Amino acid sequence: MIKIYNTLTKQKEELIPLNPPNIRMYMCGPTVYDYFHIGNARSFIMSDIVRRYLEYKGYNVTFVMNLTDVDDKIIKKSIEENKTSKEVAEFYINEFFKDIERLKIKRASFYPKATEFINDMIDMIKKLEQKGIAYNVDGNVFYDVTKFQDYGKLSGKNINELEAGSRVEINEEKKHPLDFALWKKAKEGEPFWESPWGKGRPGWHIECSAMSCKLLGESFDIHAGGHDLIFPHHENEIAQSEAANQKPFVKYWIHFGFLNINEEKMSKSLGNFFTAREILESYSAEAIRLFFAQAHYRGPVNFSEELIKAAEKGFEKIQNTYDRINDELKNENLPQVETDFNFNQWYEKFEQAMDDDFNTASAVATIFDFSREVNKIISEGNYNKNFLLKSKEYFDKTAEGVLGLLKSDISSNQPSLEDELIEILIKIRNEAKQNKNYTLSDKIRDELKKIGIILQDSKTGTTYKKTKK
Ligand code: AMP
Ligand code: ZN
Repeated sequence: MIKIYNTLTKQKEELIPLNPPNIRMYMCGPTVYDYFHIGNARSFIMSDIVRRYLEYKGYNVTFVMNLTDVDDKIIKKSIEENKTSKEVAEFYINEFFKDIERLKIKRASFYPKATEFINDMIDMIKKLEQKGIAYNVDGNVFYDVTKFQDYGKLSGKNINELEAGSRVEINEEKKHPLDFALWKKAKEGEPFWESPWGKGRPGWHIECSAMSCKLLGESFDIHAGGHDLIFPHHENEIAQSEAANQKPFVKYWIHFGFLNINEEKMSKSLGNFFTAREILESYSAEAIRLFFAQAHYRGPVNFSEELIKAAEKGFEKIQNTYDRINDELKNENLPQVETDFNFNQWYEKFEQAMDDDFNTASAVATIFDFSREVNKIISEGNYNKNFLLKSKEYFDKTAEGVLGLLKSDISSNQPSLEDELIEILIKIRNEAKQNKNYTLSDKIRDELKKIGIILQDSKTGTTYKKTKK
């Protein structure tokens, strides 16, 4: 039984999926105006570990991570760089995928881009307007927080407390200071879409409500994000989705603690700002993942050169044991000593840790203990081939499969040459389609089909299925 700390109820609860064995999970992804930083990396890696553990337990997880590709920060960058907003977003989306792969973060089932779901956002805002919850002031549409009785239930505060505690934007158009924008009227030079309220673009909060509803349904199991998003972002998502759909939005809310650097908030002005790729230049993905897994996901974490160096050493220790097992397995004259080593007990220990609100720190400690034991047994020569195979399997399933801590032959995150070639063909086909060269695009699809690769087009892009091994 998995226990999960739910920000909504402020307690650990048994995880009971809405529709087992399926679990639908949504994670707030990046705003793509820059390379992502090591703080973002913490949230992305911890959400990856949660997802991998749910899969380890046999759940069928649909994992969605959105990409915010229309936003003030993107617009600002596009002006600075004399590019379009779309060009800036596309560039950083591409770079985002590279970093995600280097960090061994499993691909999400969907990466919806906000700009591809504008109609769904407009529909949701229309629904809210019809219900008298949204109001239009000269092309800007706001959400009236006083109309949603439960406003504040996630942050655990009422409207007055929230108002006193937050730096709310002063805007004379708003009826209440906590009201927030659902639709923003276009300003000169900004990207815009047509809508019933005129030219404009969606507010940030409605993006996640509309995309999660479209891809996961009106009610789903888990919504995750960094701690900073509890208020106002997630509070507003609840207000929008529950008022529009009249259904409970999310069953479990998970929030990842913040990353600080040398006990200070990470910020560009303090000069202690690191992108994930900068850290990856000096440290392995496994060490970074181990560093994060050693701390509980909910608390804050302090990052320093010294600590990440220690994590690199820790990683080398378990990697050495793993390599030793693999080397031994190549040996033709292995000892044939029967052992009564209790692997089940080690699985139980690992699961006990992870079942308790994803206590990765304790799970990591179990992996280290296991590694030490196995090393000792091998050094003493009290083992046989089966012992080695089972030890390898344990590492593959737990340390690598769930936590992503080993350089292993099962690391499935490195795409094969074949997969990379298919992706290139998909890209060429999409370009051909955009250029209305349907002869070429159909040819690519048909030729791939002949060799058992079926392309599937959807709103979020093209995926493929292999029908032959
Ligand atoms: P952003 O691109 O800033 O919208 O953030 C993308 C994701 O990273 C969100 O889920 C944020 O909550 C999370 N995040 C941002 N900064 C940090 C940080 N310093 N530590 C941990 N998570 C963060
Ligand atoms: Zn979001």
